[in-house]
Amino acid sequence: MFVVPERMIADLMTPDEAFGAVEAVFASMADGTARNFPVVREALGGGRQYGFKSGIDAAALGVKAGGYFPGNADRGLINHQSTVFLFDPDTGVLQAAVGGNLLTALRTAAASAISIDRLARADARVLGMVGAGHQAAFQLRAAARVRDFDRVIAWNLHPDMLPRLAAVAEELGLPFEAVPLERMVEADVIVTITSAPAFSLASAHVSPGTHLACMGTDTVGKQEVEPALLARARVFTDEVAQSVLLGEAQHAVAQGLVRAEDITPIGAVITGAARGRVADDEITLFDGTGVGLQDIAVAARVVHLARARDMATEVEL
Ligand code: NAD
Repeated sequence: MFVVPERMIADLMTPDEAFGAVEAVFASMADGTARNFPVVREALGGGRQYGFKSGIDAAALGVKAGGYFPGNADRGLINHQSTVFLFDPDTGVLQAAVGGNLLTALRTAAASAISIDRLARADARVLGMVGAGHQAAFQLRAAARVRDFDRVIAWNLHPDMLPRLAAVAEELGLPFEAVPLERMVEADVIVTITSAPAFSLASAHVSPGTHLACMGTDTVGKQEVEPALLARARVFTDEVAQSVLLGEAQHAVAQGLVRAEDITPIGAVITGAARGRVADDEITLFDGTGVGLQDIAVAARVVHLARARDMATEVEL
C-alpha cells in the first residue's frame, strides 16, 4: 500500500486538481456509476465527534475516517482530524492511506466553486462571505477562481475572526468590507460556511438573482439560512439523501417548504441531464453537505500524483 502523509498534500493537491476530481465524481454520482454509503457519525463525549464517510466508483472504493477533537488545539494539533483509506474495488485490498485534513478543505471549496461556476450569473461581481473560520479562506480562494469578482463583503458572528479573511481577499487583490447581514443584499454570490445551530442569513438579506453556496451544515441540527429562502430558491445539492437528512435543506423539508423531489443533484447539471440557472433573477442555492466520494476522488488523485512524482511511500501490510 502507499502512504501519502498530511505534510505532503500541500505540495501535491491544487485547487485546480480538486475542482476536476470533484466535478468528475459528481457527474459519476448523477449517472449512477458512483454511490455514497450512509454516513456514520457518533458523539464520543467531551465534545468529540467521530465518523466515517465512504463510497465507491468505478476506480476506487474508500472511506474517510475522522472527526472533531476539541482538545487538540492545546496539544498543538488541529481540531479536525481525518484520514482517507483507499481499497481496490475488485479485491478489497488496501491500496493507500492519505492524510485527509487539507484535502477536506480543498474538496469542500471545490464543491462550492463548482456550484458557483455552474449556477451563478456570469456577470456576478460581489462575493458575500458568511463565516470566517478555517474553511472560509479556502472557500474565498476557490470562489475567486470561477468568477471575476470586484469586491468581497463579509459577516461573521465573531468579528475578531474577519481580519484573517480580509488578508486572503487582499492577497487576491479584492477590496474587502465587513458588513451587517442586511448588506448581503448587495452580493451576487453568497458562501455560508459556519457551524451555526440556528440561521443568521434571512431570506430578506438575499436579492433576486443571487447564487448561494451553503457549505457549513453537514450535521443534523446545524442551520445557516432561513428555511423560507430555500422555498424562494431553486435548490441543488451534492446528494439529495444527505441534503434532506443532514444538510441545509433538512429544516425546509421538515417544515414542508421544500420536497426532496424539488432538489436537483449538481451532478445532473454537470452531465446535462438537468438545467442549471434558467433566469437572471432566480435564486439558486447549493446545499453542500460533503460526501465520501469527494474525499475518495481527491485522495485517489493525490496518490496518482504522488506516485508519478515518486513521493508516495510504499509499505507492506
Ligand atoms: P471553524 O470552527 O474554523 O469556524 C466556525 C465558523 O462558524 C466561524 O466563522 C464562527 O464565527 C462561526 N460560528 C460559530 N458559531 C456560530 C453561530 N452560533 N452563529 C453563526 N456563526 C457561528 O469551522 P470550519 O472548519 O471553518 O467549518 C465551518 C463549518 O463547515 C462547520 O460546520 C463544519 O462542520 C462545516 N464543514 C462542512 C463541510 C462540507 O463538506 N459541507 C466540510 C468541512 C467543514
